[in-house]
Amino acid sequence: MHFGPRLEAVAALVPPCRTLADVGTDHAYLPVLLLQEGKIEQAIAGDVVPGPCEAARHTVRQFHLEERITVRQGSGLTVVAPGEVETAVMAGMGAETMLQILGEAPEVWQHPAFRHLVLQPMSDSCRLRLWAEDHGWAVVREELVREGKRLYELLLLEPSPGWKYPGSCREVGDDLVRRHHPLLAEFVAEKKKKIQRLLTQMDRSERARASRQYKEYETLWKQLEEIDCGNGRNGK
Ligand code: SAM
Repeated sequence: MHFGPRLEAVAALVPPCRTLADVGTDHAYLPVLLLQEGKIEQAIAGDVVPGPCEAARHTVRQFHLEERITVRQGSGLTVVAPGEVETAVMAGMGAETMLQILGEAPEVWQHPAFRHLVLQPMSDSCRLRLWAEDHGWAVVREELVREGKRLYELLLLEPSPGWKYPGSCREVGDDLVRRHHPLLAEFVAEKKKKIQRLLTQMDRSERARASRQYKEYETLWKQLEEIDCGNGRNGK
C-alpha cells in the first residue's frame, strides 16, 4: 500500500523505538507504515473523534495488527500513561492544536522515558520552534516534502535543556537553511509571495501601514530575503 510522500516523510523522521503514540491518527496509516518498516514494535493510535477511531480500528483489522496497535479515543496525549511511549507523532494538524495537546499532558512528554516528538504542522511552525526553546527541547532535524501542490514542514524534537534556536528567522527551519534543503528555495519563495500579497493589501490603508503587523511583515520579508537557499539563490 502506498501511503503518500507526506506520511512517508513523517515515518522517515521517526527514530526507531519500542512504543510510539500517533496522536490524531485518523486511519492509523502511520503506525502501520512504521510497523511494516520495522521501526517500532507497537503503537498507540489516538484520536479525539469517534469516526477516525473507527477508521483506525478498521485499518488495524485489515492489516492484522491487533496485537501491535491499540486504538484509544481521547484528546492528544491524555490517552497515554507517563512512561508508556518513547515517541509521539502529531501530523496533519495546526500548531495551535499541537500546543494545546502538549499543554494538556506535560507529565507524558516530561517523563524521562519520553525521547522524541515528531511534528508535521499544517500552519505556524514558528510557534513550535519557540515552544521547543521555551520548554527545554531542541529541534534536531527538519524536513520539507511536497505532496500535490503543497509543501509540508516536518520537525524532530528531543529533550535538550537550555537549547537556543540557532537561526534568526523562526519562520523557516534553521536546519533546512544550513543543509540548503533542495525544496528550500521554493518554500521561501512561497512565503515571500504570501507576505508580499499581505503587504500590498495593507499598503492601501495608511492605518494598516502604520500598524505593528505591517512592521512585522516587513521584518519577516527582510529575513526571508537574507536566507541563502544554496547555489546563490535566495528564494526568488
Ligand atoms: N495524522 C494523520 C495524518 O497526518 O494523515 C491524520 C491527520 S487529520 C487531518 C487530523 C486528525 O487529528 C483528525 O482525525 C482529528 O480528529 C484529530 N485530532 C484533532 N484534535 C485532536 C486532539 N486534540 N486529540 C487527538 N486527535 C485530534
